[in-house]
Amino acid sequence: MKKSADNSTSLKVVLYTLTTTVFVPASGIVLARRWGVDADLNAGQCARSCHDTGCPHDPVLPDFVAGNSGYFGDVIGWLYSFGDVIAAAGGLTRAEGYGAANLLIFCVAVPALHALLVGLSLRLCRGR
Ligand SMILES: [Zn+2]
Repeated sequence: MKKSADNSTSLKVVLYTLTTTVFVPASGIVLARRWGVDADLNAGQCARSCHDTGCPHDPVLPDFVAGNSGYFGDVIGWLYSFGDVIAAAGGLTRAEGYGAANLLIFCVAVPALHALLVGLSLRLCRGR
């Protein structure tokens, strides 16, 4: 009976991890690419071109959250700083280092931390 419960928990962990680290991000990529194809359709809303060429739209969030001098700007500045370290160590351009920093943080570190915390919480709940 205990072995069956362990298998059930392992399956839940695998499904949860796949959902949060593969299915949700992959569906976001599909949706972003689909919406980016017809930018004219969303001329009144932000699209990928806003990220690449600058945003002409009115901001929805307050400046302390989404402004260049707010939280968003701090995160982007930190990613560039981290990317500069990667670029210097790996002989990359600044843009490549910035991209590598994004991938390391958002595609490796955050999902790994998330999986670690889920595993820890499931391990702590086993005694109940
Ligand atoms: Zn925009």
